[in-house]
Amino acid sequence: MKLLVTGGAGYVGSVCAARLVETGHDVVVVDDLSTGHADAIPEGARFVEGDLAEVAPKLLAEGFDGVLHFAAKSLVGESMQDPGKYWNGNVLTSLRLLDAMREHGTPRLVFSSTAATYGEPEQVPILETAPTRPTNTYGATKLAIDHAITSYAAAHGLAAVSLRYFNVAGAYGSFGERHTTETHLIPIVLQVAMGKRDKLSIYGEDYPTPDGTCVRDYIHVLDLAEAHLLALGHAVAGEHQIFNLGTGTGFSNREVVQTCREVTGHAIPADFADRRPGDPAILVASSDAASTRLGWKPERPDLRTIVSDAWEFTRARG
Ligand code: UDP
Repeated sequence: MKLLVTGGAGYVGSVCAARLVETGHDVVVVDDLSTGHADAIPEGARFVEGDLAEVAPKLLAEGFDGVLHFAAKSLVGESMQDPGKYWNGNVLTSLRLLDAMREHGTPRLVFSSTAATYGEPEQVPILETAPTRPTNTYGATKLAIDHAITSYAAAHGLAAVSLRYFNVAGAYGSFGERHTTETHLIPIVLQVAMGKRDKLSIYGEDYPTPDGTCVRDYIHVLDLAEAHLLALGHAVAGEHQIFNLGTGTGFSNREVVQTCREVTGHAIPADFADRRPGDPAILVASSDAASTRLGWKPERPDLRTIVSDAWEFTRARG
């Protein structure tokens, strides 16, 4: 298939673009490089640098079989301080993309949605039918895009799949996580192991969880990429399918830090700080729907594997 990958210079986008190239697809990456890295774009993909809202209509006129839409602002804290950046950058840009797809008859869309669309869950594991009440602007913008996709699919016959990621981690060889502003737990812990930070603060030790720290569901970025490939093959015209992607197993922040200590052999000093606003106590996915309908199964659910792959990537980059 000829595929447009938006945000293909970012973490998840670059891993997916790499897998798409490897599996024989004709890949065009569009990215404004505001947070992505040009050297993360896989060899074999064509790269167009620019603002998605401007570039997409021109590119899609060439004729594409589908779009994988990763490009987004994704920092929860920033989304609360500068919501306009998220409503414009995420929602408005995605609407421009949907309109361009409609205009040029692009039949398929796979969208990077997020567990943040659910907010504080009433029940775990979280099903796709759970209420969507995002607790931050980032999640609200992703949910708004999901709603737009639903109505475009129904009205214009778009074949759409939204994938709601839980906590993505790990790396795929030279493709890994490197944000300029790092806020995610595993990369921060590995920065301590690399000597780039003195210590880490664990946010909150009084949550209603077995060890008092938050519990998250970590999914290997390569398992996530495979889900995108499957989603492309299972998209149905006129339908918007939504799938959660996690392993169904939660690990507490303490367990994550301890696993990082074991994998890296570093002491990784950690202290406790106040809770981070907007952090739910437990986020664990039910991925039964992805398993049943996409035939997806995480091949690397072990936290040690996920951390080891992230550590190898981090060390290789120095
Ligand atoms: N976290 C932490 N210290 C940090 C960064 C994150 O204790 O320096 C915690 C955070 O409060 C949450 C968990 O790690 O409980 C996962 O956070 P992350 O930002 O990686 O992902 P999120 O679940 O917010 O998408």
